[in-house]
Amino acid sequence: MSTKPSKPRGFMFKRIKKKRCRLCSGKTEGIDFKDADFLKSYITERGKIIPRRVSGNCAKHQRTVTKAVKKGREAGVIPFTAE
Ligand SMILES: [Zn+2]
Repeated sequence: MSTKPSKPRGFMFKRIKKKRCRLCSGKTEGIDFKDADFLKSYITERGKIIPRRVSGNCAKHQRTVTKAVKKGREAGVIPFTAE
C-alpha cells in the first residue's frame, strides 16, 4: 500500500580546520613540541595526527608538525591515544 520513502542519508561531514597552511601564513615561526595547544590543533580527539588534506598544511610544514607531535607524545605533552 504505502511504502515509506527511504530516509535521506545524513552525511555528517565535520570540517576540522580551514584549509590553509597556518605555518606558511607566517604567524608561527618555529614549532615547539612543548606547545600543547598548538599540537592539539593538529591531532584529533583520539590523538591521531590530522592528515594534510584535512589540515591544509603544505608538505613541508606537515612534516614538521608530524615530527613535533611525535616529540610531544614522547615528552608527554599530548596523549598517544585517548581512551
Ligand atoms: Zn606551509
